[in-house]
Amino acid sequence: QAPKLTSHYELMDWAAKFFQLQLRKHPSRQAVIDYIKQRGLDGDTVKRFGIGFAPDGWDNLQSQHKHNPSGLATLTECGMLIAKEGGGRSYDRFRDRLMFPIRDRRGRVVAFGGRVLGDGTPKYLNSPETPIFHKGRELYGLYELKQHQRNPQRILVVEGYMDVVALAQHGIPYAVASLGTSTTSDQMQLLLRTSSQIICCYDGDNAGREAAWRAMETALPHLRDGVQLKFMFLPDGEDPDSLVRQQGQQAFEALVDDATPLSDYLFTTMLKQADLSSQEGKSKLATNMVPLLNQIPEGLLKESLFSQLERS
Ligand code: ATP
Ligand code: MN
Ligand code: MN
Ligand code: MN
Repeated sequence: QAPKLTSHYELMDWAAKFFQLQLRKHPSRQAVIDYIKQRGLDGDTVKRFGIGFAPDGWDNLQSQHKHNPSGLATLTECGMLIAKEGGGRSYDRFRDRLMFPIRDRRGRVVAFGGRVLGDGTPKYLNSPETPIFHKGRELYGLYELKQHQRNPQRILVVEGYMDVVALAQHGIPYAVASLGTSTTSDQMQLLLRTSSQIICCYDGDNAGREAAWRAMETALPHLRDGVQLKFMFLPDGEDPDSLVRQQGQQAFEALVDDATPLSDYLFTTMLKQADLSSQEGKSKLATNMVPLLNQIPEGLLKESLFSQLERS
């Protein structure tokens, strides 16, 4: 039985510790330990990110709070328990999953991502929006990064939990994940306040390439002078996790050093859609570009992109 906790933060912190304990003690933990090994995660990494295990079963979490009705109500508000319709019994949201706690910038656990151990669906189950978790405002791994580097020189934005964790284990502790497919405006502003160089490093697939374009559009209104936005395009079928495992830290960081600057990305992509040998093509380029460039705040970046457009 857990102590009588009542606040959202206390209960989420307790839940994270409960999942960590299950990883060390639960009788059926072998499958999850095998999975962790298969994914190549070591004990330090598991500890650093507070990774845990939600065992199979409908009431592992809730049975710990049987005599604490207000705790149960709060766990439900936190999305950890799901209330059955019509006021029936509730059940645990996360079952038989590897658990990644999501911490806010002060280090408080506000949500979880849970990965199925193998091939089941859904692959990831995430906490819903709750009074303490607004997914568009948090970045997975930002707290852990700031523990390492108070003023990170650069930050990689990746898609997934596993990408953040694997990069950290391979000596690249400056990656964070936007918790969903696209990076929101709030997340982009937070990133650009935290470091002067942001590098989008999404999966080498169509979804990843589309996410890069959307991230660029989202960032434009916030690109004051002195901040840089860059893009890494991974080989088809790879993501940062798979690539850093294959190639190691040095080769991966060489790719980071070589990331494509915003201006190259913007012009290369736009030029693919307009044939500059014709007057029509040229005006099409301008028609597509001007509304984008106009979103950038007044300054040197905007001026230089406009003059690059005039020269093309
Ligand atoms: P893994 O390497 O464990 O297979 P991944 O991070 O490479 O996972 P992707 O399919 O590339 O998985 O998805 C990227 C991110 O998108 C995930 O880390 C997760 O945050 C989110 N995601 C993926 N699938 C789902 C899903 N079914 N429901 C909710 N979120 C998901
Ligand atoms: Mn993908
Ligand atoms: Mn991926
Ligand atoms: Mn992956």
